[in-house]
Amino acid sequence: MSESNPVIEEPTFCEVHPTRETSLRCNKCGRLMCTECAVLTPVGYRCRECVRQHEDKFFNASQYDYLIVAAVAAGLTGVGAVIASMIGFLLLIIIASIPVGGAIGEAALRATQRRRGRYSGHVAAAGVVAGGLIGGLIQTYARYGSQASEIARRFPGREVPALPLDVALTSTVSDISLLLFIGIVAFTVYGRFRMRI
Ligand SMILES: [Zn+2]
Ligand SMILES: [Zn+2]
Repeated sequence: MSESNPVIEEPTFCEVHPTRETSLRCNKCGRLMCTECAVLTPVGYRCRECVRQHEDKFFNASQYDYLIVAAVAAGLTGVGAVIASMIGFLLLIIIASIPVGGAIGEAALRATQRRRGRYSGHVAAAGVVAGGLIGGLIQTYARYGSQASEIARRFPGREVPALPLDVALTSTVSDISLLLFIGIVAFTVYGRFRMRI
């Protein structure tokens, strides 16, 4: 007479945390993992290593792509910042910033055949801030230059001092509409890179 043989399950433990009992396995590589180690993905629970490997396949940008993204974002935002500070109409700038940011993000993606890296969004946003401030600075100097030549025209012989860089910088960063423009564009460009299309 044979007794039915109950299957005695040996306790199993997380491969990273050997003291934590678990029976949950990564559905890709099969390793045991505790709830802290498991990552819920659209295709089920996976271990961190498999998630990272999957992301690395998605993130295919090279260092060179990062440079292109930064340069495109900086260049276009620089031009945009010059135009924005020429307009100087706050409401229009706020309304225009989001589509402008979307277009800059799209241009940066196209420039690199849509290759993306883990930090593409950060790099693009940093490019936006740098380019926007440089554009604003150029506009500050251009404005000062036209005022200076106006003074020179009206008062011939009067010496107009050159604008010191620190004064120009202070004037640029206290331009609220420029800062709003840069902020919204940076936010939108970063968001564009987070979208996986
Ligand atoms: Zn795995
Ligand atoms: Zn664990």
